[in-house]
Amino acid sequence: MILHLSKSLPETQIEALAITNQAVWYTNNEHTVFVLPSAVKEVPSSLEQYCTGSWAMADDIQLASKKYRKDIREVSWADTVIGGNTNATVVIAGPCSAESEEQLELSSALLQETGIRNLRAGAFKPRTSPYSFQGLGIEGLKMLDKMRSKYGFGIVTEVRDATNVEAIIEYADVIQIGAKSMYDHGILRRCGKARKPILLKRGFGATLQEFVQCAEFILSAGNEQVMLCERGIRTFETKTRFTLDLCGVAYLKEYTNLPVILDPSHAMGYAYGIPDLARACVAMGVDGLLVETHPNPKVAKSDAAQQLTHDVFKGMMQTLHPIANAVGRKLV
Ligand code: PEP
Ligand code: MN
Repeated sequence: MILHLSKSLPETQIEALAITNQAVWYTNNEHTVFVLPSAVKEVPSSLEQYCTGSWAMADDIQLASKKYRKDIREVSWADTVIGGNTNATVVIAGPCSAESEEQLELSSALLQETGIRNLRAGAFKPRTSPYSFQGLGIEGLKMLDKMRSKYGFGIVTEVRDATNVEAIIEYADVIQIGAKSMYDHGILRRCGKARKPILLKRGFGATLQEFVQCAEFILSAGNEQVMLCERGIRTFETKTRFTLDLCGVAYLKEYTNLPVILDPSHAMGYAYGIPDLARACVAMGVDGLLVETHPNPKVAKSDAAQQLTHDVFKGMMQTLHPIANAVGRKLV
């Protein structure tokens, strides 16, 4: 159950009430928000006198639920606004990994040419093998920072584990939590205390309930700027890398109040299918689209098979604008 309490309560009293009622709480500009287990269906008597609003919830998808907030949350950073009433489908693009300044310069030129405002590249890569490229680390973050200063892009980059979470919070405009880190509670809790938007990717073995509950860890720690990213789940299929769960996207749009971003690149795993999938993603009327593209995919140090050449990316972008318009959105 979610309760709004008047903000005038002193912190010591809030703490005591939270302990008595097994509540997770945070304070925003308007209220102190208490979240009790969803099994609680009525305002507890000890909280009645402070309560200015209450929502009984069916399960532990609480703060992220449309039952609590009907509208999609607005999330903003740099010169980007996503969700809310924007009707924007925000494109976030770039190579899988930051590899060199030259590579990022070429990626930046592509973004400039196609009117994209958000550059995405990983500096700390969560790889499936310890023997493959692990990312440039801080050096990569510095290169991304340089692109931000030079071109004014928003920078989206991922946190791999607790050893780099502080650096990512410092350098990123949007903190990406990757599929393999979705369950890392150290990361989730630290990002809950950060005051920067979070792009939370769905673990490839996670149900929608589990996925959104991970977002609840961030929201209930007081970070209200969370976006959900579907990037493919594991099924029995082996011909494609993962299976993009568009049914799940329909569910997230219907039942949650968080902006939804689709990532066809990691789902498909092969460049040939990605433009078609991206068109299907935009047709879903989602808030964001994340696509990997590399100046020379053949020599990419990670996810080489799935990164689009710049020419293919540009061709794809041209076809996406009318599709976005057809579903009442604008690609930005
Ligand atoms: C990535 O975005 O490059 C990445 C590693 O994605 P995921 O966490 O979805 O596997
Ligand atoms: Mn990748």
